[in-house]
Amino acid sequence: RANAEKFEFQAEVSRLMDIIINSLYSNKDIFLRELISNASDALDKIRFLSLTDKEVLGEGDNAKLEIQIKLDKENKILSIRDRGIGMTKEDLIKNLGTIAKSGTSAFVEKMQTSGDLNLIGQFGVGFYSVYLVADYVEVISKHNDDKQHVWESKADGAFAVSEDVWNEPLGRGTEIRLHLRDEAQEYLDEYKLKELVKKYSEFINFPIHLWASKEVDEEVPADEDESSDEDETSESKSSEEEEEEEDSGKEEDEKKPKTKTVKKTTYEWELLNDVKAIWLRNPKEVTDEEYTKFYHTLAKDFDNEKPLAWSHFTAEGDVEFKAVLFVPPKAPQDLYESYYNSNKSNLKLYVRRVFISDEFDELLPKYLNFLRGLVDSDTLPLNVSREMLQQHSSLKTIKKKLIRKALDMIRKLAEEDPDESNDKDKKDIEESSDSNEKKGQYAKFWNEFGKSIKLGIIEDATNRNRLAKLLRFETTKSDGELTSLDQYISRMKAGQKDIFYITGTSKEQLEKSPFLERLTKKNYEVIFFTDPVDEYLMQYLMDYEDKKFQNVSKEGLKLGKDSKDKELKESFKELNKWWKSALANENIDDVKISNRLADTPCVVVTSKYGWSANMERIMQSQTL
Ligand code: ADP
Ligand code: MG
Repeated sequence: RANAEKFEFQAEVSRLMDIIINSLYSNKDIFLRELISNASDALDKIRFLSLTDKEVLGEGDNAKLEIQIKLDKENKILSIRDRGIGMTKEDLIKNLGTIAKSGTSAFVEKMQTSGDLNLIGQFGVGFYSVYLVADYVEVISKHNDDKQHVWESKADGAFAVSEDVWNEPLGRGTEIRLHLRDEAQEYLDEYKLKELVKKYSEFINFPIHLWASKEVDEEVPADEDESSDEDETSESKSSEEEEEEEDSGKEEDEKKPKTKTVKKTTYEWELLNDVKAIWLRNPKEVTDEEYTKFYHTLAKDFDNEKPLAWSHFTAEGDVEFKAVLFVPPKAPQDLYESYYNSNKSNLKLYVRRVFISDEFDELLPKYLNFLRGLVDSDTLPLNVSREMLQQHSSLKTIKKKLIRKALDMIRKLAEEDPDESNDKDKKDIEESSDSNEKKGQYAKFWNEFGKSIKLGIIEDATNRNRLAKLLRFETTKSDGELTSLDQYISRMKAGQKDIFYITGTSKEQLEKSPFLERLTKKNYEVIFFTDPVDEYLMQYLMDYEDKKFQNVSKEGLKLGKDSKDKELKESFKELNKWWKSALANENIDDVKISNRLADTPCVVVTSKYGWSANMERIMQSQTL
């Protein structure tokens, strides 16, 4: 094109496009949901702007917030159009080529080692999936602040942008034209597109229309002599109609008007999705499958796994809102890597059905950032800036209620898991298909997100006890299984006051510890804490259900009095004195005769408020 300006793709983007275009990846369908998701984002943006400035929407069709899909079979073009915010020339250059998203190189690397293209949307490069099905793509876009422009590329390392002097004015928004590859002609099939929208984009909150063909009955004069009529109808005449004609022939005697019915193909916009937001529906009427699909759309997580749990509720009172929370089936790889530098929650905030932001930090505490979901508030004001919303007093109440509901949801996940049951015999009898499905779910949760619960205990004093209930660990008696504090307490020996635990790098290492000798001999149960974060955890978790925690490698271990204790103390008094004086110049606080050992003659114990040996080790390596 004459007025085109040429650009090169940013290097990582170019590599990504090469991978996509040469991919033998079988599920090419994903491009459509990525384009629809982008269209929906663009519509969200213009709707948000219109809250403070109605003018931005314009008039007539322009103000319709919708998505349209059109097929051009003759030219093999599939186009997707939205009336969203659109892109200026500068936006087109930046967003579709020259600036790579932060996740791009990570994704490229992943893709080179048998990665899954399905996750492309999560890495912020979903747009480029168009090259799974197209060899040439045009993006026509009109933003309120600029003229209409065309972006185009054949994925050959370069793209061009020009002012659009060829196409019809869009008014506002973006149209993506995919010139389909020969092997991707199936996407010109209306039926296929309807199926895909249903499958992947059912929960998009804007109407998605398809320019669809429709057979309609049309009454035409039955006079065969009229040649103009014959031309139109003779081809589409079916045998049934011919029969009908015979019927009408009989009726002729009764002097009825001579007409006949013929099938005609017309085109019209067909609505493909139900735009009623799922969170506004009655939870009793939403199926598990619908929640699962909704989660996939929301999280851009199309691994086809079911979320581990969800909670859909309405909060009433001073602050009214609806919310849906999900526990994802898997933790993202960087969940804990970015824990301390980012406070971004994964909840979307809506105010009265209008999407406001997915970058609010004030909705959930950090340790619950692994949750996905959305909040739709009726109380928050609509016509203020995001910054002002962030300060709004009802956010505190929303946050409090969300935490409570989230922890309830996780507690229920544990309670409904038959593996978690205290009573193993009962479990065998009552196993139904329903409980089968829930079997092992909590262990899965713990494996993925257990660390978040521990961080919660450290950070959230208000909910510490609720969170402690969710803790799982192995013990000297748990036989390789996970167990809970409640289960530990139910097994405590008569007269046992404290909850015993030991910290270290692994269970195998700890099992050999001399600190366990006597406790095991006396049949006490001891918790193994083997995660580095556990040391910090135990500085915050002082007690549970009126029982104190006692590190068995620390001073203060009380195992009940033995009748021989006094006698022993007397007989080793002199040896004790000698030890004390011999170690006077070392870093030793005290030397004591104790009943904590069985076979080992002596052991170094940490003082009550000092660091355990394990903590010393952690501090030296500085890993959390
Ligand atoms: P993501 O959607 O995760 O940001 P994409 O690769 O899908 O990543 O899209 C890249 C960017 O291109 C978007 O962030 C947006 O700025 C812009 N974009 C894509 N499609 C549209 C559209 N239909 N309307 C407006 N902007 C769009
Ligand atoms: Mg996208």
